[in-house]
Amino acid sequence: MSIAALIVAAGRGSRAASVGAAPKQYALIGGRPVLSETIAVFARHPNIDAIQVVIHPDDRPHYQAAVADTCTDKLRMPIPGGATRQASVRAGLEALAAQGEAPDIVLIHDAARPFVAAETIAAVIAALETHKGALAACRVSDTLKQGAADNSVRATVPRQDLWQAQTPQGFHFDAILEAHRRAEDAQRQDFTDDASIAEWAGLTVALVESPARNIKLTTADDIAFADREMRALRMFEPRFASGFDVHRFAAGDHVWLGGVKIPHTHRLEGHSDADVVLHALTDALLGTIGDGDIGQHFPPSDPKWKGAASSLFLEDAMRRVSARGGRIVNADVTILAEAPKIGPHRPAMQATIAKILGLSSDRVGIKATTTEGLGFTGRREGIAAMASATVLLPSS
Ligand code: MG
Repeated sequence: MSIAALIVAAGRGSRAASVGAAPKQYALIGGRPVLSETIAVFARHPNIDAIQVVIHPDDRPHYQAAVADTCTDKLRMPIPGGATRQASVRAGLEALAAQGEAPDIVLIHDAARPFVAAETIAAVIAALETHKGALAACRVSDTLKQGAADNSVRATVPRQDLWQAQTPQGFHFDAILEAHRRAEDAQRQDFTDDASIAEWAGLTVALVESPARNIKLTTADDIAFADREMRALRMFEPRFASGFDVHRFAAGDHVWLGGVKIPHTHRLEGHSDADVVLHALTDALLGTIGDGDIGQHFPPSDPKWKGAASSLFLEDAMRRVSARGGRIVNADVTILAEAPKIGPHRPAMQATIAKILGLSSDRVGIKATTTEGLGFTGRREGIAAMASATVLLPSS
């Protein structure tokens, strides 16, 4: 079954005219045009196979700029719309029908609704298994008043059973194309959405509950709201990185692992306290901000770090992340060793690392494994540690 999204972007949107020269669907929210955000939702949705945008013929330069950084092979060439929304949708449907393989399902969506949830798209598609049409809608929550000409209240309208129509509105493709053709033949050009054309044509249309957040950006205030929302969404980007370290055993009676002193038959040899866990974790953190590695910041050739507690290195990496405005989300370590047993020391390691990184201990993973007697760890020649960390950094 093939599913196309038909995005209607041909309107002139006079109500948001104060936004600037470009129609509202090209206004910038969080630094990107509204239409780019809307296309992106459908482009990354796994159920959508093709995206057809209907634009105003005057908007080609705006459109080209809006899709310049859109990486998807779903997007078809835009087609010019008509004088009304209904005519634009009709043009889009005819274009899809003319492209050889017409889709089985079409989801018609307003370009000015960039906050549509992926779940809503999936729910509309699911409703089409039992109905010819389905639309996203939200229940009316405000009390409704009918006003008289002088703005006095004439009546209170019962809101029970009332829904606000949104998009996407999904249909069996052949059925909605036929309904649109019949509406035009009947010279009905006053429909404001496609569900009402489907209803007029006698198709049953299902209501699919959708969050009120899926608003149609209409006024300059709506655009300002959307701009703040998008900026908030995009404020941080996740960074993930890994680290690895090995130290060999030497004569001694304890090792430092994860900032915890553990009695053992040997010590780990190194310039500092040779805490492989903290070293691997330090490198993982440095990796999230592309800031070199532990050896670059604390050269073994520098006597200053002889015998140093490795918590210093992790604290330094933590400061470097903080200086970039970063927030550590979690840290995770796997220790590769035949001995000592890590389990009894896990809570102490977790607590120590959590304290240095300012995390709750459920955000610090400590795991250990033997290597089944294989390799240098298996021969008990040393201990290795692998670490990873996730950091949220302010987006540039
Ligand atoms: Mg090391």
